[in-house]
Amino acid sequence: MNNYNIYLEIASVCFLLLVICIINTKRQLSIFQNWLYSGALYALLFLNVSDMAAVFVSDRVRAGATGLFGFCYGITILSFLLQIFSLQLIYSYLTVVLEGKKIKKPQFLVFTLLSVIYSILVLTTPFSKIVFYYDRAGAFHYGKFSCILYCMPAVFAVYSLLSLHFHKKVLSKLERNLMLFFNATMVLLVLSMTYLPRFPLMYFWLSVAVMGIFLTMQSPDRYLDNTTSAFNEDGLMVMINDRIEREKPFSVLFMAIHDFEGIKDGFVTENKKKVYRKICSDLRYRNLKRKERPKIDVFRDNDNIYIMFHEAVKAEELAMRIGSKVTDGIYVDENAKSVKVVAKMLLFDFPGRIRTEEQFYSVIRYFLTDDYYNRYNQMQFINEEFYRKKKRYEDVRRLVEEAIRTDGIQMYYQPIYSTQRKDFHSAEALVRLSDTTTIGFVSPEEFIPIAEKEHLILQLEELILRKICSFIQSANLRELGVSYMEINLSGNQCVQADLAEQLQKLINEYDIPPEFINFEVTETATIDNGDCLIRNMQELQSQGSTFALDDYGSGASNLKYLVEYPFEIVKLDKSIVWTHFGATNAKTKAVLPLSVHMLREMKVYIVAEGVENAEQKEELERMGVQYLQGYYFSKPICEEEYIRFLRKYNCKQG
Ligand code: C2E
Ligand code: CA
Ligand code: CA
Repeated sequence: MNNYNIYLEIASVCFLLLVICIINTKRQLSIFQNWLYSGALYALLFLNVSDMAAVFVSDRVRAGATGLFGFCYGITILSFLLQIFSLQLIYSYLTVVLEGKKIKKPQFLVFTLLSVIYSILVLTTPFSKIVFYYDRAGAFHYGKFSCILYCMPAVFAVYSLLSLHFHKKVLSKLERNLMLFFNATMVLLVLSMTYLPRFPLMYFWLSVAVMGIFLTMQSPDRYLDNTTSAFNEDGLMVMINDRIEREKPFSVLFMAIHDFEGIKDGFVTENKKKVYRKICSDLRYRNLKRKERPKIDVFRDNDNIYIMFHEAVKAEELAMRIGSKVTDGIYVDENAKSVKVVAKMLLFDFPGRIRTEEQFYSVIRYFLTDDYYNRYNQMQFINEEFYRKKKRYEDVRRLVEEAIRTDGIQMYYQPIYSTQRKDFHSAEALVRLSDTTTIGFVSPEEFIPIAEKEHLILQLEELILRKICSFIQSANLRELGVSYMEINLSGNQCVQADLAEQLQKLINEYDIPPEFINFEVTETATIDNGDCLIRNMQELQSQGSTFALDDYGSGASNLKYLVEYPFEIVKLDKSIVWTHFGATNAKTKAVLPLSVHMLREMKVYIVAEGVENAEQKEELERMGVQYLQGYYFSKPICEEEYIRFLRKYNCKQG
């Protein structure tokens, strides 16, 4: 061969061996893209070796070993076939990376057709001499159609340049520029083939390109989690897409780790890392023989671990085993006792109802947010009920978003009766979604927690406050005998450092006297916010507003909050009231009267909620409860009805 340069081929063999060694020592995802890449590496290696062998053998033939003539042909044909094979692999790899999917049919057909023509021409060349031939003396010559040897790399490179142009966003800037550079130089190289060392330069250049790919797109660390022996979240995404694309069924066990039991120094980052490392390496079953290991991959993303089972059939049994193994306790190291993991677990199958990566993440997001699934260490399966709940949750979220956008809420008012004044001196403002056409009536008990979880609550609360303020401003409530209005504050509002400032601004904007507002705060909101809330309360109280502790008796009812926080009013929850009236034993019967007694001693005003009949009203009144609220007096009613109600019941008194 003219212009032959063996050093270029030795260099490219060295490059390839280096990459092959590194790749084989690192863990790799078993995805189509990686197989293509490894295949391309080996094919290029054999190509270089066979090319060197062809040159060596043809030298021997020229030196007189005529018996090797046939072998010389054979090995040269092999090297040209390997050329097309490695090009196919490299460019299929690029197509899979760029276009993300299986190679599309038309491209695949064109490439295959070209390769078949190429192979036929190369294979028949000993008879036709149209691609190349050796003369009697053993010298190599190109035939009439030798251009096909250059055309193929050029066709692939041009296709790849086009694909790069249409799929710009897939690669990073560096990766994109690198691929542009290699493909463009490949085209130039082919065009200038007559002047340059022939194939060795092209093969060398391909090896450099493959090395470039290794350092960027194909970097083995790209999909590895650096703390554990698992893969990372990008790896998960690539893996899921790969399995979906290739229509391979699989299952995923999702474990959201919430806490550990048994770590002495608590939830310290270093400990956490140790446990994750241990879990992830245990799950790879390295203690088992390769054949006996279940085919699974482990992925980690912060406190979430995803275990992918390649065989969906055995998944359920394995998942249950893994779930109990992890939550029953694992040994982290010799010194530590076993650590128990507290986790939420969800097992799901592909394809099943989940067919895309987006659906996968939307299921996970829902599973993590809805309180309904706050069950720990208990395997949850995706079933019809799960999807029903998910759909309802998403419908409600959409409704709230819509309401915020279109001002689609209404405020209802539930009058509160004063046992001393014998009139309705106050009312609680309760929110309603006005659009009930799509999914029917949705209770605030359902949509407020969803709005909180979806970070919509602050916008919703502002809308609520504005609605209430503009009602108070426009309706002359004081003249109708109303002393103040009760407004619910959500937990999210209570954490805001500038809550007092915001509320004052709003009250001033609508020209409402601060003493006309009483804010209701639940115990849960109180627990989370401590000092910040006390400061805000004091600030608003200094202006004249008051505060009520809502839902007293429904939760933990820690007396600490009653004592430490400056509440003027305590609202007894419906449940404590109803339990009293339904109670048959003396112990239960004692709770309500004694609570009322205690609260009166503390000099706080009491509102009893959920008063539904005359008997309840009378007995609560007898106990000394100052204010009563419940269906017995009125359900929550809209603005107009509330005004009518006040005219009817309050004005008759005065
Ligand atoms: P809550 O603050 O405890 O409100 C009292 C709830 O009890 C209201 O339900 C009211 O309609 C209901 N209720 C009152 N008397 C009776 C009765 O005699 N029998 C029965 N069965 N129920 C009675 P609603 O309006 O469905 O509100 C539910 C919860 O949603 C409220 O509980 C409150 O936590 C929340 N909420 C409602 N409106 C707002 C709001 O504007 N902002 C915030 N942050 N939360 C709100
Ligand atoms: Ca309330
Ligand atoms: Ca309440």
